[in-house]
Amino acid sequence: MSLTQAALLHDLGIYDATIHHNPGVDELYAAALRLGEGVRAAGGPLTVRTDKTGRSPKDRFIVEDDLTRERVWWGGFNTPISGDVFDRLLEKMTAYAQGKELFVQDVFAGTDPEYRLSVRMVTEMAYHSLFIRNMFVRPTEEERAGFQPEWTVLNIPSFKADPARDGVRSETFIIVNFTRRMIIVGGTQYAGENKKGIFGVLNFLLPERGVMPMHCSANVGLDGDVALFFGLSGTGKTTLSADPGRKLIGDDEHGWTDRGIFNFEGGCYAKVIKLNPEAEPAIYRTTRSYGTVLENVVLRPDGTPDLDDGSLTENTRSAYPITQIGNIVEEGMAGHPSNVVFLTADAFGVLPPLSRLTPEQTMYQFISGFTAKIPGTEQGVTEPQPTFSTCFGAPFMPRHPGEYARLLAEKVEKSGATVWLVNTGWSGGQYGQGQRMSIAHTRALINAALSGQLDGVRFEREPFFDLEIPTEVPGVPSEVLNPRDAWSDQEAYDRTARKLAGMFRENFKRFEDGVDPAVTASMPEHAQG
Ligand code: ATP
Ligand code: MN
Repeated sequence: MSLTQAALLHDLGIYDATIHHNPGVDELYAAALRLGEGVRAAGGPLTVRTDKTGRSPKDRFIVEDDLTRERVWWGGFNTPISGDVFDRLLEKMTAYAQGKELFVQDVFAGTDPEYRLSVRMVTEMAYHSLFIRNMFVRPTEEERAGFQPEWTVLNIPSFKADPARDGVRSETFIIVNFTRRMIIVGGTQYAGENKKGIFGVLNFLLPERGVMPMHCSANVGLDGDVALFFGLSGTGKTTLSADPGRKLIGDDEHGWTDRGIFNFEGGCYAKVIKLNPEAEPAIYRTTRSYGTVLENVVLRPDGTPDLDDGSLTENTRSAYPITQIGNIVEEGMAGHPSNVVFLTADAFGVLPPLSRLTPEQTMYQFISGFTAKIPGTEQGVTEPQPTFSTCFGAPFMPRHPGEYARLLAEKVEKSGATVWLVNTGWSGGQYGQGQRMSIAHTRALINAALSGQLDGVRFEREPFFDLEIPTEVPGVPSEVLNPRDAWSDQEAYDRTARKLAGMFRENFKRFEDGVDPAVTASMPEHAQG
């Protein structure tokens, strides 16, 4: 350990830790195996099990102070906490960290040099350090030498808060402090907190610079046309952006500036449960590669990953540097989008597989942020569960949804992008009766839309959401285009569609005050009740 390393964390109040500064992949494998964090799977991935197998949104706090008080949209996922609570917890954490082994990665959040954030990520777990190295933008050697961190993240999973004394809700906490430019995390091993914590920071900071931060994937066609894919978890951002005919820019978080779009990340975090190697060959390969982190994937006795095994969680993940996907935009930046796609996995089987949105419908759908999950494992629950998560990412959006919606509307108008709504969920009936859209059909629909093949096609309007549906799409059977035709019981379709439209209206009430009445009116009333 060099002297600079010893001094590295003095600002944090950590004086005598053993520090690994910017360790590489080999070193992190060795450390993770030595510390018993995981094992090496056949083919090479570092495979780990975590205590929490998903994020802990209820334990995420933002320090309320002069900087945030008037700017954060408090309530919902944005829970205020006092600066004193943060200071005390940080002090306890740093005392706890003395003498420990810590991993430090200096990385960028953002590929665009003008907007990227320099972040120093200090973690207790070696595997987190590898995750961070995979997922963030890796500085060059030169950039590392002169690295000045603007933000610091301190993540110590074995440090657990005492809710009775520490002023938090449970042993787990994720606290963002904009004034001190720090995030502290304790009591959870789920690596996704590292990435989504910084995402929330960018989502707060960038709108003030005229940049639209987005929970979306992005890719670019052979003619240079850019497409964005917004959607909540499980709707297909990662799956559909990795298209053999298009170059991947990023699979989850982007910014839209006056120049175009840029990836916030340098890697992807793909769900791998029941991954089909034929439908998703590029992502499948990452589950057999050295350098990948496989989270909560069960290994067979021979050490090969069993992607069908959801016994630890259905949220099994592969985290890999984007360079593991062959077909990418190296610099992580591209021009203005020609198409914007809103993905929804509608388990009611109501929304059309592909429809085109007006500007008002764009705002309406963006602010609604709908998807519907399949029923959980609770006995007797057979109905799909609707989720409305504003901006397709409510847990990561510190500001009022209206701010993001206005920015998006502005960018879409200026670029002239066409906006589409794509249902990657059920068709021919709701969950239990119908079936999930095939990835092949969804890809064919999206490719037809992105390539301009639908420009000359006739569209028809359906009555429940007033959505414009193409009447023919090459490579896709016509019966699936209009969801009502795909159901064998069309009265059941009408009932379900009416019910879902009612859920949209009910949810939208809380936003009506803050939006143009034309946006609210873009949802037809006549189909109600
Ligand atoms: P997250 O925000 O959690 O990363 P995501 O939007 O990236 O979520 P994906 O990881 O792409 O979501 O998950 C989509 C899942 O749905 C994958 O497991 C994919 O195999 C499956 N799937 C099934 N049918 C389709 C379809 N028609 N289109 C897209 N994905 C589908
Ligand atoms: Mn994803």
